[in-house]
Amino acid sequence: MSIFDRREFVRLCAAFGAFFAPAAPGQDVPAPPVSRVPVKNRKDLVGIQVRGFSWVDEGVDAVLDNIQDKGDVNTVWAYTFSYGEQRLEKNGPIPLPDHGKPGNTIAGGAFYDYDRKYFQNTILKDFRCKVYGDFNVIEAVASKAKARGMSFFAWDLNNAGPTLNDTIPNYAEVSEVDLYGRGTNRPCFNNPDYRAFLSGKVESLLLGYPSEIDGIAWGSERMGPFENMIGGITTPSCFCGFCQAKARALGISVGRAQSGYRELEQLFLAAARNQRPSDGYFVSFWRLLLKYPEILSWESLWTDSFQEAQAQLYGMAKAIAPAKPFGFHIMQTMTFSPFYRAEEDYAKRRNFADFLKLATYNTAGGARMAKYLRRLSDTVFHDATPPEFLDFYYKIMGYHEAPYDQLAGSGLSADYVARQTRQAVEGVAGEVQIYPGIDINVPTLLKGDAPVKHSTPATVRASIEAAFSAGADGVVLAREYAEMQLANLSAAGDALRERLVQAKS
Ligand SMILES: [Zn+2]
Repeated sequence: MSIFDRREFVRLCAAFGAFFAPAAPGQDVPAPPVSRVPVKNRKDLVGIQVRGFSWVDEGVDAVLDNIQDKGDVNTVWAYTFSYGEQRLEKNGPIPLPDHGKPGNTIAGGAFYDYDRKYFQNTILKDFRCKVYGDFNVIEAVASKAKARGMSFFAWDLNNAGPTLNDTIPNYAEVSEVDLYGRGTNRPCFNNPDYRAFLSGKVESLLLGYPSEIDGIAWGSERMGPFENMIGGITTPSCFCGFCQAKARALGISVGRAQSGYRELEQLFLAAARNQRPSDGYFVSFWRLLLKYPEILSWESLWTDSFQEAQAQLYGMAKAIAPAKPFGFHIMQTMTFSPFYRAEEDYAKRRNFADFLKLATYNTAGGARMAKYLRRLSDTVFHDATPPEFLDFYYKIMGYHEAPYDQLAGSGLSADYVARQTRQAVEGVAGEVQIYPGIDINVPTLLKGDAPVKHSTPATVRASIEAAFSAGADGVVLAREYAEMQLANLSAAGDALRERLVQAKS
């Protein structure tokens, strides 16, 4: 099939809500299926992510008061779907700030009512969360936000999590299968039922709530099998029937990919036991890639499938509501992992995003980066310790940050926010709006001996100034309103208002 035919096919597929043809590993993600229509993105968007329980516990008006008056927010990112949100406890791992109610209820699924007709092509039909009774976040919040001059975005976050396998009928059926044939709690992006479920959600939002929804922010913090092994999160996946069939169609040997990942797992297990191969860890790692290039082929198969799914959703959203912004959350691994960064190419994103929200959480980022460096040292770079390769790592990533033993305590600088913002702005070349995430009490969830840096009004202000000085088109106050100390939220609002005053004068 020629490039032209392929794009035509993709266009037709998206128009009818079908799936993209598989892209070969390394092949570009398909171009958008419809011509780009200017979207009415707000100038200087100021978004904020709001959990379902915040509206329920604090009241819609009170939350809107806080985010608008204190935070100067002009666009609500309300969770319309959660993989499992949990209220905060006073002394919990993520402490309850100076607002909200404590609790430990877990709520996953949709926080809005949807028409089942959008889910005819999937076995995932029943995912309405009832933990908050009949609370419908779109009906409860959208009109009130608009009455205040704010926009209302649906925040559709599709992370993996253990909750949904138990609460959504058939959810376990669409999960990835790991190297050993075991099911997981991570849905597979090559599973037609999961893809139809994701498409159905976008349809149900844009067609079901045409006057309420002003835009959609879509997210899924997921990584391929190789990246997951370095991240220390899971055994490699996915090896389900759909992924195997797609690999075969692309000429990738399933058996050799499985053998390669088994041997890679053995190498990392040897590293965990400090059983150094005679040639060392990195040379042995590279030798494995030479012996089994299928390791990287399978990683690309996963990443391409993940990005295809997002391109398909974007194409569908543009076909339904071309003027409504549809964009994506980019997880913070993008800023830590040179491997993930190579997979997530901003130039490609120009084809299928109106905006990108970057998880540039600098205060929590020190502890998070230190953890990632330890994982590198536990796996591919086990020949050295994090302090030994830190300078080289900073060179690769373009950072000037603290020494390793001070990272968690000092956090990352505002310069980190500026560098990430600038890189994204240059990468998308003006075709996609860039919204850095501003760290306001983002937790690290790290237990350790090193003290962890916490947000202050000064860190919040510095991050906002860094983001805009680097060319940001807006910011998203992050992660969650529920986690933020109100003084820090106010500091964000003060900095944003001052910026506006300065811009006018
Ligand atoms: Zn699969």
